[in-house]
Amino acid sequence: MKLPKYTIGIGDRFGRQGKAQLQAFLDARAAGVDVTPVWNKSNREHSLIGTRPADTRAEADAAVQALSWTGAYFVDADHINLKTVDPFIDHSDFFTLDVADYIGQPPSAASLQSFKATNEKYLGALSIPGIAEPLRITAATLEQAAGKFLFAVEEAAKIFRHISRRKPVDRLVIEVSMDEAQQAQTPAELFFILSAVSAAGIPAQTIAPKFTGRFNKGVDYVGDWKQFEKEFEQDLCVIRFAIKEFSLPENLKLSVHSGSDKFSLYPIIGRALRKHDAGLHLKTAGTTWLEELIGLAEAGGSGLAIAQEVYRSSMRRFDEVCAPYATVIDIDKDKLPAPETVSRWDGRQFSNALRHDPSCPEFNPHFRQLLHVGFRVAAEMGDRYYAALEENEATIAKNVRENLFERHVKRLFL
Ligand SMILES: [Zn+2]
Repeated sequence: MKLPKYTIGIGDRFGRQGKAQLQAFLDARAAGVDVTPVWNKSNREHSLIGTRPADTRAEADAAVQALSWTGAYFVDADHINLKTVDPFIDHSDFFTLDVADYIGQPPSAASLQSFKATNEKYLGALSIPGIAEPLRITAATLEQAAGKFLFAVEEAAKIFRHISRRKPVDRLVIEVSMDEAQQAQTPAELFFILSAVSAAGIPAQTIAPKFTGRFNKGVDYVGDWKQFEKEFEQDLCVIRFAIKEFSLPENLKLSVHSGSDKFSLYPIIGRALRKHDAGLHLKTAGTTWLEELIGLAEAGGSGLAIAQEVYRSSMRRFDEVCAPYATVIDIDKDKLPAPETVSRWDGRQFSNALRHDPSCPEFNPHFRQLLHVGFRVAAEMGDRYYAALEENEATIAKNVRENLFERHVKRLFL
């Protein structure tokens, strides 16, 4: 099973927008670019919402059938580990092995020994085609890379072997993810991570490093664009070189997590992909659910009332809803409107504040981030929320499609 060149991970917390999401991929195809959908949902999201991995599979299959989608599509067991993977195995064909928690754990002496023996030939100036300056590799570089990443990669291999005992290897796509790490990984570190991935026998088709700068959920990138551009291009060159050097799958590519809404980066990423003829997996941050709120608000009446209620409860339970996402949100409480104010807003004011259009003076990234993590409030509404989605399907679907195609696919690939 081979992952195509351009893929987008589309989270759908409540599992009702599969068709609207897929419509964006049909639009992409009509506009001349092939992008493949990957429906992803993590164990954390499933447990907060009360869904199961089979639901994501059913949603994807139903959308594909309803819209007669003839291309490939995947269902991603997102951010799984040995403890959480089992319920996903029968329903997923893409597995994101999250081993960030194991970064920094010391490898065994034998592992360290064999890592050093494999990689000591890179000591000195390592020239990688496409990177102007050779990477400087010292004994300390090797030692540190092994100390940080070797144990984590071996953990990924354990998860991979566990999955492959229940599912044939040619029926699955493997991603190794280290994006929820404390520190960004340098291009040289990525090179040695890939060396270890190959040595461990993991047929990774995507790798998700942590990039320099902040990738907050549902809002734009915060960081040094120039630095990002340099490292991103270097990562592309490292991957191309590593594929040959370590006999890794030839379609191995970068995966960018929390990749939705990074509008300032898309021109940079798009340019780099075309320049290096490289592929990309862009994993969005599950912001489809915010388009549901925008659609509900725009519909007015009881839809708007539900959107306002979600905000009111999210404000009241601020610490609780923010806690699981503390490292990937930046909310300034002083910039949040009072719930009483929001309760007086009409649908246009609510959707203007929430929709990610930085050129709109009413757009409020703090409001947006709080609502993004407030999805458990909507989950607790249960059938009331689902009924509202159904009632206002047309308005919501329009926003879901537009967000994916106009703000993401177009800016990246067209
Ligand atoms: Zn991630």
